[in-house]
Amino acid sequence: MDCIFCKIVEGTIPSKKVFENDHVVAFHDIQPAAPVHMLIIPKKHIAAMNDVAEEDLPLIGEIHQAALQIAREQGVAESGYRLINNCGKDSGQVVFHLHYHLLGGEKLGALNA
Ligand code: C5P
Repeated sequence: MDCIFCKIVEGTIPSKKVFENDHVVAFHDIQPAAPVHMLIIPKKHIAAMNDVAEEDLPLIGEIHQAALQIAREQGVAESGYRLINNCGKDSGQVVFHLHYHLLGGEKLGALNA
């Protein structure tokens, strides 16, 4: 499968990883939209939030756990941060491997900016 984030999981495309366990990987977004901008993804290929099955729900919990750990490690847990999933065309999703943007490190703009 020609998925750029699967290749990041495999390590065939380089990334600056900040977190990895058996099911989840997180790395720096290559085009950061804030001082802290990480992408948190499942190792399993799930194209988008629309494709999350009931059996995947523990994985979504793990992603949230990872997000909290990363927010703490990046020093934004207290100042505040955003966890964003884009799903589908109107959201601007460009990579069809489920991912959550963790943004922080500055006062963030309006949600729909
Ligand atoms: O949610 P959306 O699909 O729009 O975001 C994809 C994100 O993946 C972008 O912020 C882009 O900069 C990032 N990206 C990356 N490394 C790649 C390819 C895309 O960090 N190799």
